[in-house]
Amino acid sequence: MSHRLRARAWTRFLAVFAASLAPLLAICAYAEAAPLPTRIVYGTGKIVPIPASIPHAEGDMVDQRIVPNLRWIAKRYPIYITDGYSGPLPNGEHVGCNGCHVKGSDHYNGLAVDIVPTDPSSTCDANWAPITRLALWAEPVQEQPRPPFRWVGYDGDAGHGCGNHLHLSWNHASAPMFQLAEWVEVLAVNPAVKPGAAPKKKKPRSAPRAPAGPPGGISQVTTGGVSARLAGD
Ligand SMILES: [Zn+2]
Repeated sequence: MSHRLRARAWTRFLAVFAASLAPLLAICAYAEAAPLPTRIVYGTGKIVPIPASIPHAEGDMVDQRIVPNLRWIAKRYPIYITDGYSGPLPNGEHVGCNGCHVKGSDHYNGLAVDIVPTDPSSTCDANWAPITRLALWAEPVQEQPRPPFRWVGYDGDAGHGCGNHLHLSWNHASAPMFQLAEWVEVLAVNPAVKPGAAPKKKKPRSAPRAPAGPPGGISQVTTGGVSARLAGD
């Protein structure tokens, strides 16, 4: 093989090699943006204090079924939760901000959180960059949140956005105000289901659909002062 032929063969090999790599790189890029698997959790809902490992305002509580997701998010993004469940506990004590969420808000079912940076500021500065990344991950296209999110409030939504707060709601069965939903869709980040957490008999024949409804809230108030206490069954 002449020198020139060898060089040409080598060039062709490189071109073929690069071409074969392209789809592989595309798959990698897709995997990065691909939605994570989700699952439906039935029953065993309960309003519980947010664990200390997830930075939050004192006294904040949520439905325990989204706690593993909050933990997963907190490990990846520097979040601080300013409000979760908003409403009364069985003992009559009030949790969360009062009168600051819209009618039908998922905060009233413990299935929404309001998020700011761990080092918050009221202007859209560098501290908000990770929160913006989280918002774009949860809602890559405006009004098209990635499952399991039902509504994502950020830039483009009144009372939300960089420098204000990020709202995340989870898909769930319709439930009246201050009541726990029959099912909740969550990221399948913790596949180990505790005994009794998913009774087989309760599975509906068709896939559940998230309720249509108003967006999840316009909280701008930071919660505080309410003592964290387990809700009664
Ligand atoms: Zn909210």
